[in-house]
Amino acid sequence: MSIHAINLPRFVIIGSNVLPKVKEVLTRLNVKGDVLLVSGETFTKESAELVEDSIEELGLTVHAICVKDASQAAIEAVECRIEESKACIVVSVGGGKTIDIAKLASNKHNVPFISIPTSAAHDGIASPVASVKTKNGSTSIMAQPPIALLADTDIIAKSPRKYIISGVGDIIAKYTAVRDWGLAHRLRGEYYGEYSASLALMSAELVTENIDLVARGLDIGIRVVIEGLISCGFAMCIAGSSRPCSGSEHLFSHALEKNYAGKALHGEKCGVGTIMMMYLHGGDWKSVKDVLLRVGAPTTAKQLGLSDKQLIDALTIAHTIRPDRYTILGERGITPQAAKDLARITGVIE
Ligand SMILES: [Zn+2]
Repeated sequence: MSIHAINLPRFVIIGSNVLPKVKEVLTRLNVKGDVLLVSGETFTKESAELVEDSIEELGLTVHAICVKDASQAAIEAVECRIEESKACIVVSVGGGKTIDIAKLASNKHNVPFISIPTSAAHDGIASPVASVKTKNGSTSIMAQPPIALLADTDIIAKSPRKYIISGVGDIIAKYTAVRDWGLAHRLRGEYYGEYSASLALMSAELVTENIDLVARGLDIGIRVVIEGLISCGFAMCIAGSSRPCSGSEHLFSHALEKNYAGKALHGEKCGVGTIMMMYLHGGDWKSVKDVLLRVGAPTTAKQLGLSDKQLIDALTIAHTIRPDRYTILGERGITPQAAKDLARITGVIE
C-alpha cells in the first residue's frame, strides 16, 4: 500500500463570542513568540481589534497588516511582514481572501496559521487549498490547513446574506464534485478516498435537509452552513487535494472568473454550475435547483449578471481550465450547441 499522509487542524471552536478564545488556543499551542495579525480592511476590522487585544493580554507582541485583495502583491506583502517581524504564527481575521493570503504566506515561511473567518462564503476557511488570481483566471494551490479555526456564529450571521448563500452553493457543489471524482477513479484509476468523499457528500446532504432553517436566517441554519464548510475543508485535508470538493461545477465557475469579472460570488457560480453538471451526470438536477431556490440563491445566467452567450462560452471552455482534473466534461468538453441545450433544459437560460 502507498503512504497517505493527512494534515488536519488541531482546534476547531464554533459558537457565540468565541474570538477571545484565541488566547486559550495560543496557550495550548505553546506560542511564546511574536504574532502577525492579517486582517481585511472593512467590516472585519472590529473583529481584528478584538483578537489583537485578546492576544496582547497574553503579553505577546502583535504585528498587524491589512490586506485589500488576493493579489500576488498582497501575498508578498504578508510574506515580508512575516520575515521582518520574525512572527512564529499568523492569525488571519477576515473573509475568504484574507484567509487565503495568510494561508499561502504562512505556508511559504513554514509557520502555522489560525483561521478566524468573518463570513462563510466558501470552504477555504478550513481547507489546505488556497485560491489565487493568475492571468488565466483563478487557480487552486495546495498550501496548509489552519492549525486552529475559530468561527464566531454571531459575526458570521451578521455578514451580508449573499455570503451565506454563496457558502450554500459551495457545499451543494459537492454533489457533482464527488461524482466527478468517482468518474476519474473509474476511468483514469485516479486515487479515490471513500472517507473524504463521504464527508463532502454528508455536508451537502445536511445543508439540503436543513435548507429552510438556513433560508430563515436562524442561528441553527447558519451553523449548519459553517459546519458544512469546515467539514468540506476536512474532506480536502483527508484527501490531500481539493478533489472531493471541486469538480466540473468548479471548472465552470473558474471559466467564468477567467473571462468576466462580474459581481457573483464563487459559491453562487458553483451552485448554478452544479445544476447543469448534475444534468450531465444524469442525476437529480431538479432537487439541486430546488435547494438553491429555497435559499434565494441564483439559478439563472441573468441572476449571475451574465448574458446567455457569456454563460455558454464558459461552459464550452470549462474543460480547458484544469486539464489534469478529469470530470464529466471529458477531455473535449461540451459543444456550443450542447451547452445551449443544457442551459435551456435546466432553465439557466431562457
Ligand atoms: Zn469552492
